[in-house]
Amino acid sequence: MSEMTETITLRAPKIGIKEHHYSKPQECPRCGGRGHFTPDGPNDEAPKCEHCAGTGKLQAIVDIAWVPANRWHAHGAPRADWEINEQTRRKITQR
Ligand SMILES: [Zn+2]
Repeated sequence: MSEMTETITLRAPKIGIKEHHYSKPQECPRCGGRGHFTPDGPNDEAPKCEHCAGTGKLQAIVDIAWVPANRWHAHGAPRADWEINEQTRRKITQR
């Protein structure tokens, strides 16, 4: 079975440190894309789907924040500040 995917390729920006990406709208899985819960179609008394606010679709917002790379841990996730401070403290105290 086929599946449609969306991909974000991470590329460090020349200016700015924050990015916002919006996915293509997808069918609301709770109401099946109808936006309401009646068998006869939408009307003023039909309860709206609260998950999609009656739109029948959901959209993802992907926020990306760029930070300076941690020189002590260049090939993985940045360490927490307290870890950096602890390592710095050890270097200083070992001298
Ligand atoms: Zn819905």
